[in-house]
Amino acid sequence: MNPYQIETRCLQGGYVPGNGEPRAVPIIQSTTFRYDSSESLGRLFDLEENGYFYSRLQNPTCDNVAAKICALEGGTAAMLTSSGMSAVFFSVFNIATCGDHVVCSSTIYGGSFNLFAVTMKKMGVEFTFVHPDCTEEELNAAFRPNTKAVYGETIANPALTVLDIEKFARAAHGHGVPLIVDNTFATPINCQPLRWGADIVVHSTTKYMDGHASALGGCIVDGGNFDWMAHADKFPGLCTPDESYHGLVYAEKFGKEGAYITKATVQLMRDLGACQSPQSAYLLNVGLESLHVRMERHCQNAQAIAEFLQNHPQIEWVNYSGLPDNKYYDLAKKYLPKGSCGVISFGVKGGRAAAEGFMDRLKLITIATHVADARSCCIHPASTTHRQMNDAELVAAGVSPELVRLSVGLENVQDLMDDIAQALA
Ligand SMILES: *Cc1c(COP(=O)(O)O)cnc(C)c1O
Repeated sequence: MNPYQIETRCLQGGYVPGNGEPRAVPIIQSTTFRYDSSESLGRLFDLEENGYFYSRLQNPTCDNVAAKICALEGGTAAMLTSSGMSAVFFSVFNIATCGDHVVCSSTIYGGSFNLFAVTMKKMGVEFTFVHPDCTEEELNAAFRPNTKAVYGETIANPALTVLDIEKFARAAHGHGVPLIVDNTFATPINCQPLRWGADIVVHSTTKYMDGHASALGGCIVDGGNFDWMAHADKFPGLCTPDESYHGLVYAEKFGKEGAYITKATVQLMRDLGACQSPQSAYLLNVGLESLHVRMERHCQNAQAIAEFLQNHPQIEWVNYSGLPDNKYYDLAKKYLPKGSCGVISFGVKGGRAAAEGFMDRLKLITIATHVADARSCCIHPASTTHRQMNDAELVAAGVSPELVRLSVGLENVQDLMDDIAQALA
């Protein structure tokens, strides 16, 4: 399906211009599309034909970029969303609604945790959180008859735990449900979860994929392997008629390869409208074209900084899976052989106050609610992204009060070390 290596797909995947057509992905800045007859437009509304009629559902620029990410992940269908959060929400809500249950890794992005534990709980979807390092017995014990999905992050933000994707996929498939993996931090350059048994991959494209802090976005990719019809009783939304499309059954009409993304597009995007703008998709695509080059350098710089921090007397501990004494070193070797990502977390000696003082003294590395950017930045999760959590939840999420999350960028690595050294002095 993908004749070219991943580096080539970063540059040329998704959009293949015809003779005399624009070389760069064109920005189709149009909300609507013209048709010769009501009848031909009507066929699109019935999902009898593929085509564009309103950019809330689909737009050619966004589809070209989604197709590139689909090719990078090795999936069969993909869609862009307005943000990573909408991708996370749609990916779960597409198959788990009121009265359903989801098994979820406890070390996930704070925003996703809040969505699951608070907002989706109000919508009647219940989550059981399990530590990613749990035993298979503990994992299997978390399932209920109404469990519809399993969810985790390849590399958790900000805990940096590495998910044993095969273990989670085995448990999910043993209970007849798909595994959804948030692959934001690893990116498909460093890990392709679909190859390890995940069924659906989500991204905050706001992070490394864009890479330049210029456009919010998200993406959902379906691996096309999960057999919805084999578990039709669990997934009525995909396996029974949708009256809003004249009784069409997604899993029959679009098969394993297309049912999930088609349903998410024509139901969730239609009704909730969290679409990405063509301008943002264009910027995302520019980022994707250098993703493979950037990820390699992010990992090199982060490895050097992690080793520097580990040897620094003011540093209590360093968490980076590229360090041989890290708990996730072996899992990272297996799932992330090219490197993990540019994000490191560490504890400054002296607790919360020392961490905050260190950050205030940084000159080159900026304090920003952002991560996975070409420019280095850092944040104190306990007082920002994770401040809604109580102490027990913070511990479960792997976030201690002295934890600093450093996103190592693409600057000269010695300049970064000098900045850290002066701020610790
Ligand atoms: C940032 C992030 C999200 C949310 O993405 P937004 O684009 O900010 O909405 C989801 N998952 C992970 C792992 C993230 O880092």
